[in-house]
Amino acid sequence: THRHTIVVIGGGAAGIATASSLLKRRKGLDIAIVEPSDTHAYQPGWTMVGGGVFEPEVTVRPMESVMPKGVTWLRQAAAGFRPEDNQVTLADGSTVAYDVLVVAPGIRLAWEQIEGVEQTLGRNGVTSNYRYDLAPYTWELVQTLRSGRALFTQPPMPIKCAGAPQKAMYLSCDHWLRRGVLGDIEVEFCNAGGALFGIADYVPALMDYVGKYGIALQLGNNLVAVDGPARTATFKTEEGEVTRDFDMLHVVPPQVAPQFLADSPLAAESGFTDVDQHTLQHVRYPNVFGVGDAGGMPNAKTAAAARKQAPVVAVNVLQQLSRKGPRAGYDGYGSCPLTVERGKIVLAEFGYGGKLMPSFPEWLVDGTKPQRLSWMLKADFLPWLYWNGMLKGREWLAGPGGLIAS
Ligand code: FAD
Repeated sequence: THRHTIVVIGGGAAGIATASSLLKRRKGLDIAIVEPSDTHAYQPGWTMVGGGVFEPEVTVRPMESVMPKGVTWLRQAAAGFRPEDNQVTLADGSTVAYDVLVVAPGIRLAWEQIEGVEQTLGRNGVTSNYRYDLAPYTWELVQTLRSGRALFTQPPMPIKCAGAPQKAMYLSCDHWLRRGVLGDIEVEFCNAGGALFGIADYVPALMDYVGKYGIALQLGNNLVAVDGPARTATFKTEEGEVTRDFDMLHVVPPQVAPQFLADSPLAAESGFTDVDQHTLQHVRYPNVFGVGDAGGMPNAKTAAAARKQAPVVAVNVLQQLSRKGPRAGYDGYGSCPLTVERGKIVLAEFGYGGKLMPSFPEWLVDGTKPQRLSWMLKADFLPWLYWNGMLKGREWLAGPGGLIAS
């Protein structure tokens, strides 16, 4: 059995940001990060890849390069949690012991819940910006489609970046409009949910684009099966099953907690880590914390949320190491820059209870309206902030986010 003071499960946005934040606060901490992947992805960039704005390569870096200096990288997957023994089991059967555990393995794309889709992803006009290898295919399809029907789907919540299914659609429509072919393409948004977007304040601006692009909204339509060669998609609706033909299908898969987490004593009913939504401390095991998409908090699952959560977890982990109670709190902040056209964004920023939490004064950026400055933020500033601020634990850049002064 290895032993480390702090063990972090997952070297994604949340795990790396939390480890960096810890090391900024206390140099020389003994931290191990359990992470099987060789590459680290800036997933918010995949929307831009699918829209032909970014090259795919700019969204990934070697995992090695984002690992904070001084941490021990255990290059394999975690397989199980034994919180009673303060141990984690790894895929090779070995165990790692900890004083404090940070759980951040992200959310799992449950492709298997859509019958037939896995066999046809990347072919027959079926694509998804939710995978690095498929986002370029979205852009390829958008460029070649001149007429026919394009379907964009959204599964039931929770998903990471709830706006991303629409972002893919608006950027595609914008391209077709500029090319003069939009009139020959029937666009449908097939959403398992009952509203265009969960926070009502942003809906009017989005509805303007739905109207401008002539999009048909099919609410309460949940994609359950795809036949790639036949180019048909089947949806469950209140009136029974509906099958639609398509020429292009952009799929967003249902998303669930990683299985090994859902099966463990750390899971809430939902399968995600059972933490207090403010302190991010586990409700049963005080030396365990949850951060990022794998957390059971009711915030919008986004990298922006992880950016605000990381320093909160770092402060409370250090408190725990000193045998003190948590001192920092997370307010539920999450952000979703909705790319309504190339060059303009509706910048949704909100916290728990749907409370709007704009980062900028309204005269500079009105989040409820499509704005050019927000596009510059998404296309230029946010990727830079991610790699150089958030992942490095530079919180004067990334914003302390909900820290309660002691
Ligand atoms: P991830 O970044 O997914 O990292 C999880 C890590 O855990 C991975 O490295 C994985 O390899 C590792 N892991 C998995 N299983 C195990 C295991 N068993 N053991 C050890 N490690 C494991 N967010 C925004 O803020 N703005 C946006 O505009 C935005 N757009 C998005 C668009 C798309 C298409 C997608 C897919 C996401 C978007 N997001 C956006 C969401 C954002 O990417 C996630 O919320 C963020 O990456 C969450 O960080 P995380 O660390 O929790 O999970």
